[in-house]
Amino acid sequence: MTVVLHELSKTYEATAGAVTALDGVTVQFPESTFTAIMGPSGSGKSTLLHCSAGLEPSTSGMVTVDGTVLGELGGDALTRFRRDRIGFVFQDLNLVSSLTAAQNVALPVRLAGRRADDTAVTAALAEVGLADRARHRPHELSGGQQQRVAIARALFARPAVVFADEPTGALDKATSGQVLSLMRRLVDEHGRTIVLVTHDPVAAAVADRVLLLVDGRVTEELTGADAAAVS
Ligand code: ADP
Ligand code: ADP
Repeated sequence: MTVVLHELSKTYEATAGAVTALDGVTVQFPESTFTAIMGPSGSGKSTLLHCSAGLEPSTSGMVTVDGTVLGELGGDALTRFRRDRIGFVFQDLNLVSSLTAAQNVALPVRLAGRRADDTAVTAALAEVGLADRARHRPHELSGGQQQRVAIARALFARPAVVFADEPTGALDKATSGQVLSLMRRLVDEHGRTIVLVTHDPVAAAVADRVLLLVDGRVTEELTGADAAAVS
């Protein structure tokens, strides 16, 4: 599925005054493409992901996913649309602390009213190197392991589009390489659309293209290899 942002703007009304987080972003995330978004802290990267995934409304402009305008879907329809098609790895992970790693991975699928097969859940954890942590709760896992549970959860429902907010930030080099090649394979072999926010030049190098976001605008677009060479 292809995600299109058209003149997308987002302004937050804060007590200290309004903040423009996104300022007229027009960009496409085509099917079978791995895009990395880089840029300084506060440049709007997380906001861009949240708005693209329909987790936050934009102030103006629009987001379409294979032609469906997210802003025209009502609350329930939007929730269903997201559940069926979009996976999201949150920067602060959002794991449920009372549930095991396996239960966290299965949760979105179960909330969608579908069965989550134990073997499939274990396979999803194995893909991120956590086959032996299925029964652990988040507080019994390291930061990097928790991050991998969040990644396994986002991928488990086989979403067509995956957004991930710094998914390799807490991972060591080897684990991060494993996660990135899993994502690369989902794009190359299954035609998924992947968009990740990252500060990691290695992650940028795995991407097909890198967008640089500055002050809420896309100021540059590079190939993954070129971005890795300069970052
Ligand atoms: P990045 O992910 O690049 O660090 P963000 O998208 O988190 O940037 O933030 C972009 C800008 O929007 C920042 O100036 C930030 O302070 C502001 N911002 C983000 N979320 C909120 C919010 N909920 N309320 C007010 N301002 C916000
Ligand atoms: P396709 O869209 O290529 O037909 P499917 O969703 O039918 O892909 O999945 C076929 C197989 O590909 C799955 O059984 C699984 O092994 C692998 N696969 C697909 N999507 C994912 C994913 N998100 N994470 C891990 N493996 C996946």
